[in-house]
Amino acid sequence: MIKIKEEIYMDMLQHCINCFPLEACGLLAGKKEGTEIYKIRNIEPSSTSFFFDPLEQLKAFKDIKAKGIEMLAIFHSHPFGDAYPSHKDIELAFYDVYHIIIAIKPQLSVRCFTINEGVVKEVELDIV
Ligand SMILES: [Zn+2]
Repeated sequence: MIKIKEEIYMDMLQHCINCFPLEACGLLAGKKEGTEIYKIRNIEPSSTSFFFDPLEQLKAFKDIKAKGIEMLAIFHSHPFGDAYPSHKDIELAFYDVYHIIIAIKPQLSVRCFTINEGVVKEVELDIV
């Protein structure tokens, strides 16, 4: 289970809606729960894929280290898809963190997963 502070959760959803119809992406970090959000520019702007801006990603990693917290999750939106990892998401899941997917249309849906060596498991997402 992953816990996310309500204001961070709302900020994440708003960011995904603001980026619509393109995919939005970013990181959540914290100690035990998601208390920080890093919105990262998608340098592969499309409705079906994302790629973190490497400089912004590095900046986020440095800030996470400086604050003594941990990267907990990678989030991204599926503007017109299901809140489920795509084949590409599964292939590119290099980090051992939670993967949060926010589907926007036709229905807003937020789900969280672990992806280990191609095995996808859903995890409960708790807003605190
Ligand atoms: Zn995806």
